[in-house]
Amino acid sequence: MSVRERWQMQCPRCGDSGLHIDAKQEVTVQLHEDGTNEQDRGNIAWESQDRARCDRCDWKGTVSAAEKAYKTAARVASDALGYEVNDLQLDEVYHEFRPAQLPQQRKDLKTLEIAFEAAGGRGVEQADEIDLLRVAIAVLPKLKKPRHTHHDGPIHQENPHARTDTQIAHRRSP
Ligand SMILES: [Zn+2]
Repeated sequence: MSVRERWQMQCPRCGDSGLHIDAKQEVTVQLHEDGTNEQDRGNIAWESQDRARCDRCDWKGTVSAAEKAYKTAARVASDALGYEVNDLQLDEVYHEFRPAQLPQQRKDLKTLEIAFEAAGGRGVEQADEIDLLRVAIAVLPKLKKPRHTHHDGPIHQENPHARTDTQIAHRRSP
């Protein structure tokens, strides 16, 4: 059983399932004149509003956001496949496919589907790859974009005014 399958949560930003949660544990203690003695440990528990974070991408949020992200991913992936996605397929997609490669993934999927069709629907490896691409194309656009990014374009567009000012300054300099 994978972490994802066991806990049905994932990072809303990168899809990783190895999250950290600020959980609570009840401990029974006995009072002494110089402090306490731990007696008994209870269950570990967390609630939907408890904090969760992801080491892989530094996302911080709540348990309920991580649960919602998993539900959405499982639903859209299963819709795309026509059968229920398994958690290992999701693990593989989030670790091997990047949102920036989506246009290429769509092209690859078309090519593979045509080849698979031409081969009369044979080829287990091709079928697996087709399924992974279908999952990737369904779940990657659902990932939350990072608020600050230092690469990958559209979020950080250069300020056109700043660029003009620099060009003017450059032209004026001797
Ligand atoms: Zn993450």
